[in-house]
Amino acid sequence: MKLVIASGNPGKLREIKEMLADLTINVLSLKDYPQIGEIPETGSSFRENAALKAETVAKITGEWVLADDSGLEVDALGGRPGIYSARFAGEGAGDAANNAKLLQELKAIGGHNRKARFRAIIAIAHPGRETLFAEGECEGYITDKPQGSGGFGYDPLFYYPPAGLTFAQMTAEEKNKVSHRAKALAKAYNILKEISFREK
Ligand code: IMP
Repeated sequence: MKLVIASGNPGKLREIKEMLADLTINVLSLKDYPQIGEIPETGSSFRENAALKAETVAKITGEWVLADDSGLEVDALGGRPGIYSARFAGEGAGDAANNAKLLQELKAIGGHNRKARFRAIIAIAHPGRETLFAEGECEGYITDKPQGSGGFGYDPLFYYPPAGLTFAQMTAEEKNKVSHRAKALAKAYNILKEISFREK
């Protein structure tokens, strides 16, 4: 079977390809469909955004499609930045600006609740079939200042208690064993394994 990964992010693509390596799946990406432009994330939840991307690309290509959406939920901010994680400090804002805004908002509130979680949702769609979902989350705390230089996004601010480190202080290998995305991908693997046996 063919599976189109509806992401232009090379890091994500590599991670997903590696994970599916032992299945008889021909993995394609949006690079193989240059006519498909950016799909606006207009949903009001991670699940809606992941489904929107997967179903739109499935409709255009006629193939099985995997799409994901992820972000950071901070309890003291009522779950924000959530689906706005990538553009928390404004459209086109970089990681440093998003991190600075997060620290500034938590400082403005005061209080001691720094609890947060990363969440990842994967949607697997095919035209005319019910869309399937795989979810993963990872609990931690927001630090007072950025620590570590690995990873991306909010990793320097995300303290992961079992490791005693922020995600940015962990190696990619360590992070990828415990992250929200790793958990969602492990579940997606099982779903795709079943589909690939059926579709043979
Ligand atoms: P998307 O899933 O590519 O839309 O990413 C959403 C945003 O959530 C990213 O731009 C990051 O700001 C944040 N995010 C998602 N996963 C991670 C992670 O593993 N580490 C740090 N930030 C993340």
